[in-house]
Amino acid sequence: MSAGPLHTLGVAALAARLRAREVSAVELVQALSARIDAHAGLGAFLARDEALTLAQARSADERLARGDTAPLLGVPIAHKDIFVTRGLASTAGSKMLQAYQSPFDATVVQRLAEAGCVTLGKLNCDEFAMGSANENSAFGAVHNPWDRGRVPGGSSGGTAAAVAARLLPGATGTDTGGSIRQPASFCGVTGIKPTYGVCSRYGMIAFASSLDQAGPMARSAEDCALLLSAMSGFDARDATSAERPPQDFVAPMKTAREGATAARPLQGLRIGLPREFFPAALAADVGGAVRAALAELEKLGATLVDVSLPRTELSIPVYYIIAPAEASSNLSRFDGVKFGHRAAHYADLLDMYKKTRAQGFGAEVKRRIMIGTYVLSHGYYDAYYLQAQKLRRMIADDFQACFAACDLIAGPVAPTVAWPLGAQGDDPVKAYLADIFTLPASLAGLPGMSVPAGFGDGGMPVGVQLIGNYFQEGTLLHAAHALQQATDWHLKEPVL
Ligand code: GLN
Repeated sequence: MSAGPLHTLGVAALAARLRAREVSAVELVQALSARIDAHAGLGAFLARDEALTLAQARSADERLARGDTAPLLGVPIAHKDIFVTRGLASTAGSKMLQAYQSPFDATVVQRLAEAGCVTLGKLNCDEFAMGSANENSAFGAVHNPWDRGRVPGGSSGGTAAAVAARLLPGATGTDTGGSIRQPASFCGVTGIKPTYGVCSRYGMIAFASSLDQAGPMARSAEDCALLLSAMSGFDARDATSAERPPQDFVAPMKTAREGATAARPLQGLRIGLPREFFPAALAADVGGAVRAALAELEKLGATLVDVSLPRTELSIPVYYIIAPAEASSNLSRFDGVKFGHRAAHYADLLDMYKKTRAQGFGAEVKRRIMIGTYVLSHGYYDAYYLQAQKLRRMIADDFQACFAACDLIAGPVAPTVAWPLGAQGDDPVKAYLADIFTLPASLAGLPGMSVPAGFGDGGMPVGVQLIGNYFQEGTLLHAAHALQQATDWHLKEPVL
């Protein structure tokens, strides 16, 4: 088989070919490695190890030869470089952890490996997952495959770009305030952030622990469901892991709803449209694409209902108090003693800390450590952190009021399409404001998805966001799958 069609196949299609022995895992990684080399200019990959990848592929081929039918056996993936991996450096996009070798694999990494996935390497991301454009990586920006002059979104920008460019069929991402959904939208791929606690955070380098959640990014809802089934599940090593039995997300996605017909698979599904997600200022191209997707969902049988999330705007200050507060605490471990970078020259212990952290962290990370330390400090804790926590609860309650009237919530993922590289200059607040539609679900701990919904200005992809109630990933994936059976936005490929 030629290398041509292989890279165009998604997770499910490749897994089927591997099982049918029409292609071997080794052939597959060879074809994709050549493609990754050819498009190294996208900046999507950070670490790779050809020998390690080939060894994993050979072992997958052996299992396939023995008749093992594990659903992901031999499927090549890669991990956002926020997951620690034993064989490859784990940097979190930071100079602080440059060349850092973890002694263990993150649970998500381990589970995907056990399911038979082959790892092509580690993917670029914003430093400690702080950002919306992947421009905060210490190892260079990632380019959007649809237009190399634009950002891929962030912080899982390397993942989104690699999936969109067909360098691999799917990969892992993490979402603290939108980092799976927003880059998926910017690059025209499908991504799901599950309910907080569905995927283990063990071995995921911490940014804001009460928000961080892992999830897959791929080209379709079906491919995401396959990856999520392997990644998720209770893990005793993460105290916030949800104690629920292992879940198969694929079969329910394809199971017909009660009262549904082939033409109207979403019959009876109520989709809530929060007024605040469709402001007059929403970019016309984004609004147009989202409305086109909603019209399709309606044709498939869904009913659209008007709902309200009155504290949507407040989710920005609330998130940008809580996330930096938790980050300032999480990042205190990088002190030059236990692991990572240590300044070469210093006078005493305190000087070592100062120089190490000054050298190792980038500007955005330092900004957040300072904001976080400030809002947690005596005298300001009540005024900022405590108020933010109270509002966070109210934002979560607002969602529950909506879910009394609907099964899913829909809206845009981001207010605009991907912006040009460097467009945000020195103004971090511009980027913060663009997180308005992803932050509410993050603060509430709800599952959210970005599903390709067409193209906007400059031919750039636009995603529609679907948000479900707690542990309703199945409903989300079912609706997204139905939409993708009826439309072809998710099949469009950028010309590289
Ligand atoms: N853009 C948000 C931030 O910079 C979200 C990042 C994320 O989800 N990791 O914090």
